[in-house]
Amino acid sequence: MKKILFSGAVLSLILMSCSSTKVATKADLGTYINTITAPELSKHLYIVAGDEMQGRNTGEEGQKKAGKYLIEEYKKMGISYPEAASDWYQKVPSEFMKRGFAPKLNDSENIWAFIKGSEKPEEIIVISAHYDHVGMKNGEIYNGADDDGSGTVALLEIAQAFKEAQKKGHGPKRSILFLHVTGEEHGLHGSRYYSENPLYPLANTVADINIDMIGRRDTLHPNTNNYVYVIGSDRLSSELHTINEEVNAKYTKLDFDYKYNDRNDPERIYYRSDHYNFAKKGIPSIFFFNGVHADYHLPSDTPDKIEYDALAKRAQLAFGLAWELANRPERIKVDRDGK
Ligand SMILES: [Zn+2]
Repeated sequence: MKKILFSGAVLSLILMSCSSTKVATKADLGTYINTITAPELSKHLYIVAGDEMQGRNTGEEGQKKAGKYLIEEYKKMGISYPEAASDWYQKVPSEFMKRGFAPKLNDSENIWAFIKGSEKPEEIIVISAHYDHVGMKNGEIYNGADDDGSGTVALLEIAQAFKEAQKKGHGPKRSILFLHVTGEEHGLHGSRYYSENPLYPLANTVADINIDMIGRRDTLHPNTNNYVYVIGSDRLSSELHTINEEVNAKYTKLDFDYKYNDRNDPERIYYRSDHYNFAKKGIPSIFFFNGVHADYHLPSDTPDKIEYDALAKRAQLAFGLAWELANRPERIKVDRDGK
């Protein structure tokens, strides 16, 4: 997740954080949700957040290498890039990411993968996670295992679960776009670029499910990892909020913490990850987040500190929600003003 820096005298004050048919029934969801497992997430994360990736800074070699790993994994699953695209990449130009006096970033890329819907392929569910992190400083690697290696590998496992279902005739009715966005840490650039240059019309984009930091517990939950912060679900669509609660009650049984969804919360988390670029265009968006811990944006955010059982459970929730949004007869409605 993006850190916020307060200007001037308080520069160093960084807040701690920065109708189902016969084909696809709920019973099927129960089957496929369990293909998302802790060992597989761990296998991917030790690579994506390994030292070889050099902290995945936007536009640098380490990030590109991590991107190549993601693409190879999709290919192994038999998943391709979107039909509407000519390859795996959406180029995000350096110029687009220019911001104030910040050092110029190199050209970078969003990476996308796609599973086409069987009945309403033109309607798109986006599942997003940023694959960039902050790179290296003073020779130290900032691995970004939780931020956002955790969301990145969750997308791989969610994609695999959808693909397994599709192979058995239970593919999603609406299409799923897996969007690995770049430049998040430098200002939510990749998601902003996508929202301004969407591959599929935003009018046909049903929702964004954004995952950013789901592999740890925060200081406010010292005794359990069976929780997740849910942010933004009720801002644009009351159905999104309700469906998410229903999926969780039935399958994952996490404690939902809505603290950061409070409109008056001073940390303004709602505005600080990639879902916001979808929400501001009026697309119902939900953000799953574990909160901030002692290793946030430090070289010590490493894969060995991830709680893989929690990562798996939260990834399962995101999958379950995506499954419901993709398969229900009517697309969810926008019935709120976004505030
Ligand atoms: Zn971050």
